[in-house]
Amino acid sequence: MKIIPKINGQQVIHDSEFQIPNVLTIYGEKFSDDSIAVFTERLERTISIKVKNVNSLQEATVRFEKDESILVNGYKVEVTDRTITLFSADEIGMKHALTTLFVMIVEGEKTNNRIIRSTTFSDVPKYTHRGLLVDVSRHFFTIDVMKSIVEEMSRNKLNILHWHLTDDQGWRIQSEVYPNLTKYGEFYTKQEIRDFVQYARARGVEVIPEIDLPGHTSAMLAAYPELSCFGEHVSIKDGPGVYKTVLCAGSEKTITFLKQLLDELVELFPSKRFHIGGDEVPRKNWETCPTCQALMEKEQIPNYDDLQYNFTKQIKDHLETYGVEVICWNETLRANGVKEDLISQYWVDFTPEQKAKEYIENGQPVIFSDLFACYFDYPYAMVPLRKTYEYEPTARLQAINTLGIEGAIWTERVPTPDVLSEMISPRIQALAEAAWTFERNYEEFLDRLKANMDELQLVTLRGSTFEKATISGEEAFQEAKQFLLYMFQMMQSGEVEMELAPAEQQHMLSHFLNGFFNEEQAKRFLSELGGV
Ligand SMILES: [Zn+2]
Repeated sequence: MKIIPKINGQQVIHDSEFQIPNVLTIYGEKFSDDSIAVFTERLERTISIKVKNVNSLQEATVRFEKDESILVNGYKVEVTDRTITLFSADEIGMKHALTTLFVMIVEGEKTNNRIIRSTTFSDVPKYTHRGLLVDVSRHFFTIDVMKSIVEEMSRNKLNILHWHLTDDQGWRIQSEVYPNLTKYGEFYTKQEIRDFVQYARARGVEVIPEIDLPGHTSAMLAAYPELSCFGEHVSIKDGPGVYKTVLCAGSEKTITFLKQLLDELVELFPSKRFHIGGDEVPRKNWETCPTCQALMEKEQIPNYDDLQYNFTKQIKDHLETYGVEVICWNETLRANGVKEDLISQYWVDFTPEQKAKEYIENGQPVIFSDLFACYFDYPYAMVPLRKTYEYEPTARLQAINTLGIEGAIWTERVPTPDVLSEMISPRIQALAEAAWTFERNYEEFLDRLKANMDELQLVTLRGSTFEKATISGEEAFQEAKQFLLYMFQMMQSGEVEMELAPAEQQHMLSHFLNGFFNEEQAKRFLSELGGV
């Protein structure tokens, strides 16, 4: 089988063949219709095979059976000369089974004279959280674009869309309670969001929204400046940057505003998880804000990491009243005050992350999206396909409660849907296999990937070409160098108001280069880019 991600179970091939008919009859009362609708649509669109629902098991060629012994989200496939039976304990597992069957049928149709060899195998994912973050704040992408990404994710059994909806450059969700939030740019209406969440759900993809707090909030502050420490005018941002005006961490009014806003937003997203950001928060204003200082004194808050956590905890407690678990970026774990369970998302350790490391190694749940393997906004020359494919999150941190991994496409440097697709695909195929498959082999994956892109035409996003996605050697070095020059220029012209000391900046630069390149390459970059 040329399927991506590769299955985990042993496949047994039997001594008979199943002939693919023009019309597949299908039956399975215990599983929902939306799975069948997606399966039907894919088959009709790809190879013009029709699917017909029938009313009993006896009439059906494709049958669903519930099997409680199968692990969560796993499934089993049994193909005889006359029937195909899919087994799963849950709805998501059945969606995965149907996706696998879809690929088997396309492969049989296109490369094996409409024949599927009789077979039995089972399959179950390595991680339960197999995600992709898509940033729609820095550049806005329509629901149709989002749907095309979700369809591609679903075909590769990625099951979480982490939707980064708010940032300095735009607020993308309609609010009736605070309508000014969307005054300055494009946004999704509530109805569009509901439809999209439903579309994703039918494909086994859960949408987890991210409202980034208390930093990365210029778009919010442009509409409601009174939420910051000093209430000054804030403009919505255009270029990349980290901006010093953030939400006031000591203000009860700000917290009340956010609670009312979240009350409104939480009902749009049926997910049991909600991301509230927490990355890259400059503390400059908090240091001189009377409200922040008064709270620190009153509550005996020892430092700004803990002030941030005091803020985060109020939001977290509020969301938990909806039965929602909260996810935060790893910076949040710098505080002393984190005592309770908090899901963290680990992306980088530019600055000392000793406490985060302790929490994670002590069993706090964590999602890994390592900048150097999972950030798809960097060119293939810097985050090579192979690195994404071979990514093992626990290689660097001894996490014992890893929920899974996520790729991330930030869009400061992604202006159009075409560029977005090129950066995402075929990386999500590599990511999907890293998240699903235990035993992986990159060369063998490339063979399957090429077949999926060319003869099987199973990749629907118009992504990078195979050659561009596998760039290496001197060519990659030169491309990376061009990119770094461009990025450093952008950073110098943009605003980064993190107020880092020169030593910290030096540490960051060397960590950054050593994360992407080997020692020798990093040295060469430093010498060739010297003086930048
Ligand atoms: Zn303040």
